Amino acid sequence: MTTEEKLKKYQDWIFKCSAYQMALNIIVIDKQTVAPAAGASYRDERSAYLEGELFSLETDPEIVALLKDLQEDPEVDADNRRAIGLYYKKAQDTLCIPKAEFVAFKKLCAESFDAWILAKSKADYSLFAPYLEKMIESQKRLYGYRKSDKSIYDRMLDDFEPGMNQEKYDAFFAALKERLVPLIQKVTKAKQLREDFLTQNFPVEEQKKFMEGLLEYLHFDPSWGYQNESEHPFTSWTCENDCRTTTKYLENNVISAVLSTVHEVGHAYYEHNINPKYDGMILSEGVSSGMHESQSRLLENYLGRSMAFWSYHYPRLQKHFPKQLGEVSLEEFYQAINVAKPSLIRTEADELTYPMHVLIRYEIEKGLFNGSISTEGLNRTWNAKYKEYLGVDVPNDQVGILQDVHWSDGLFGYFPTYALGTAYAAQYVKSMRKDLDVDALLAENHFDTIMNWLKEHIHTYGFRYEAPELMKMVTGEEFNVNDFLDYIEEKYTELYQL
Ligand code: ZN
Repeated sequence: MTTEEKLKKYQDWIFKCSAYQMALNIIVIDKQTVAPAAGASYRDERSAYLEGELFSLETDPEIVALLKDLQEDPEVDADNRRAIGLYYKKAQDTLCIPKAEFVAFKKLCAESFDAWILAKSKADYSLFAPYLEKMIESQKRLYGYRKSDKSIYDRMLDDFEPGMNQEKYDAFFAALKERLVPLIQKVTKAKQLREDFLTQNFPVEEQKKFMEGLLEYLHFDPSWGYQNESEHPFTSWTCENDCRTTTKYLENNVISAVLSTVHEVGHAYYEHNINPKYDGMILSEGVSSGMHESQSRLLENYLGRSMAFWSYHYPRLQKHFPKQLGEVSLEEFYQAINVAKPSLIRTEADELTYPMHVLIRYEIEKGLFNGSISTEGLNRTWNAKYKEYLGVDVPNDQVGILQDVHWSDGLFGYFPTYALGTAYAAQYVKSMRKDLDVDALLAENHFDTIMNWLKEHIHTYGFRYEAPELMKMVTGEEFNVNDFLDYIEEKYTELYQL
């Protein structure tokens, strides 16, 4: 076969894989948003079957041989060479797994998600514990098939953030703790800021009206993006120009749905803005979970919690809720949405204490995979860690161990990327501020200019480069956690007049 013929075969294969992937993504979006619960077992069995068909396609020995061949072909261009290398690695990682076990795992993921929904609604960890145990055992077995010298948990960490492992994350979290713990202590002793007005009754219908204007400001255009509601907000894609995000409204919290929306729109833009020449290919995904979270956390925190952002939106919010917020000034509102205090829920945590929530999950995951922590009584372990790191008492499992969806879906090793991505974002913002007057753009309704900067410098490349390479291209520097710590220290010193 000529190179051209080989590439044609490879592209036909990509097309088939992307068709299965698109169907599977739609099934998951449907399951997590609108699908009636009673149909779960019928649906789960069939979607697991489709996962198995995609698995067969991705690990087809003829294709794996073709990928190996193309990898060594000098006539293949640089973009395709990069993509082929990634496909080949993915095939190597999966082809050692027996297909039946893979399909059984996918079915278990779907069942485990339903068990988590039920357990969370009843605030009862014991209903989810058997599934969590099975998820961990399955993941240990599946990862165990891979030929690797690394520990199972290191392999998982590397899957979400290539190049990362426990040693590097330990150093990362140690650096965070060193400067954040004393700062948290100082803030705790400082004069406290008012925030009681954020948790009055805010009718959801009115929140939705405010949201319409927010989505417009974000240029989250209905021609390519759609927002729904789900128990745990998420973003998913079916193709380049079809992105689905969700949010969750809380009647007694006016800021939760706003910040979760801004966060998810950050994920949405990332993949929407990838160069269309990569469409359907592995390069049309984000670089890593950390890079993805850097884009969502950048919007959520560095923009969505800023004074400039709210100087535009707050008068609008006041119009929707005159009774609740009419007497509250912009300055008071800005302070309230940035109040730092130990709390129960990760997704609602302030920027200062947020990394502690992630650290707790990271330590538990490490323990679960090295055998020092068991799923039995894990809710008590969780509660003890929340007491130790954040000083809070967890009243029930719903706001404790059952708050996050990730483990129900077999995602172990994902959590640390939230803290890492938040730190990446600080470095990106520093670079962006050299080129743009970010505050003026936010205050004057020019969000699109900010998104265009992110598109041009980060999004467009998709998975073309590795995270450290991209960081260097965008900022001219290696990743450095101190940019995040400097930002946090400066923000909270000013806010609490330390
Ligand atoms: Zn996210």
